[in-house]
Amino acid sequence: MTIGTQIAWDDTVLPFQLDRSDIRGRVARLDGVLEQVLSKHDYPPQIESLVAEAALLTALIGQTIKLRWKLSLQIRGNGAVKLIATDYYGPTDDGAPARIRAYAMFEAAELTAGDAFAQIGAGYFAILIDQGEGTVPYQGITPIAGGSLSKCAETYFAQSEQLPTRFELSYGRSQVPGATETWRAGGVMLQHMPKASPSVGEATGEGGLLTHADILAGDEGENWMRANYLLDTVEELELIGPQLAPTDLLVRLFHEEAPRVYDAQPVRFGCSCSADKVRDSLAQYPQSEIAEMVTDEGIVTADCQFCGAHYEFDPATLGSDARA
Ligand SMILES: [Zn+2]
Repeated sequence: MTIGTQIAWDDTVLPFQLDRSDIRGRVARLDGVLEQVLSKHDYPPQIESLVAEAALLTALIGQTIKLRWKLSLQIRGNGAVKLIATDYYGPTDDGAPARIRAYAMFEAAELTAGDAFAQIGAGYFAILIDQGEGTVPYQGITPIAGGSLSKCAETYFAQSEQLPTRFELSYGRSQVPGATETWRAGGVMLQHMPKASPSVGEATGEGGLLTHADILAGDEGENWMRANYLLDTVEELELIGPQLAPTDLLVRLFHEEAPRVYDAQPVRFGCSCSADKVRDSLAQYPQSEIAEMVTDEGIVTADCQFCGAHYEFDPATLGSDARA
């Protein structure tokens, strides 16, 4: 893949491997995608921040799924935030862009003065992988813990998959001189390769959950710690770009670890909603409930929570006992 200009790194995920240790990783840059995700809504700042973090995590985690698979993050809370949902649609063909969408469900009246993560309260962090029609989706869940969505994701991989994982993210509104303020996000993910027979020690993390130290020992543990110390030196502007290309960032951080990069995966904003899908989801309701949804104009309306698309139906064509 030839990258001619710096701007070509926007909305990409770059996979890499550190040849000195069994560690793989990704560098993600999201800006246009994030701007589109967030511009569909008018979220309060704390909610925007959570959705941005979730979308960036989704790009970093989703990159490994196979063509046409779907990976979703779901964060459910009992605070002001009830749900943050994201989807990553694997590319339809090699070289095609992956698609990301995200939204949050929250009670504005329950927002507190606390930081963004505090708005979630107690709940769980889940990853779902859908391999397509005729398969049972895979789902893994861990409790909300650790003070950020990144920490939740790290706990998820340690606990559910016994894979030491580290995220270093930066996101926010930024202004390129002469342009309007837009959302930008960048992040690095490090993950230890799966082991044939992981020897998992006693869980020492918050709430009795596994951490990397419970999974890796000896040389592996040292390699993991060394890569993490190197990542600790990253600065927010290096993560977010656009001046520093992800390839240069990897050399800056990990040149002694022999980083090897693979083809970058382009990502775009994309929603999979359609009138037929909305119709299918309404088909589960009996006519009596459909009747309650009819507006003064005599129609049933539905808005896509991800992209804001507006759908209108004739109630006579909806419901579980409707005649098509
Ligand atoms: Zn939609």
